[in-house]
Amino acid sequence: MPFTIVTPNGVLYQDDVEKVTIPTQAGEITILEAHAPMVSIIQAGEMHIHKDGNVVPLAVSTGFMEMRPTGELFIIADTAERAEDIDLSRAEAAKARAEELLKQQDNMADVDFARIQASIEKELARISVGKKYRR
Ligand code: ATP
Repeated sequence: MPFTIVTPNGVLYQDDVEKVTIPTQAGEITILEAHAPMVSIIQAGEMHIHKDGNVVPLAVSTGFMEMRPTGELFIIADTAERAEDIDLSRAEAAKARAEELLKQQDNMADVDFARIQASIEKELARISVGKKYRR
């Protein structure tokens, strides 16, 4: 199945793959060849690309996935990193900053709360993938 994931930095991964496991708002889904066309909203978490018996783990934040009628799987993500590219201390520091912001503010607007919460989830995904797959 042809698979592409792009971020604002460019194409992160593009190849023919067996299957991809994706964290979506509706839960984790696995897309295999010839899956019916569909779209879904991606949420922060772990993504697994299965290729030739190997697994490429990625940390993703928010995004959008599309299984096209042509049989191609296409993902646009706000951020995505391969496990080996994750800077764990940067993620830990960013998570600590976001948690501190949440603690400091009493009457936070819902929109600010949601933004900080999303940022914590993004850093948690990086930390989880970075730790699990560290060589
Ligand atoms: P920070 O607060 O640590 O500066 P951030 O979480 O605000 O970072 P993002 O907007 O999520 O940063 O991402 C900006 C760019 O930096 C993206 O290309 C993303 O892949 C990369 N990036 C962010 N954090 C990490 C990390 N811990 N390890 C590797 N790349 C990262």
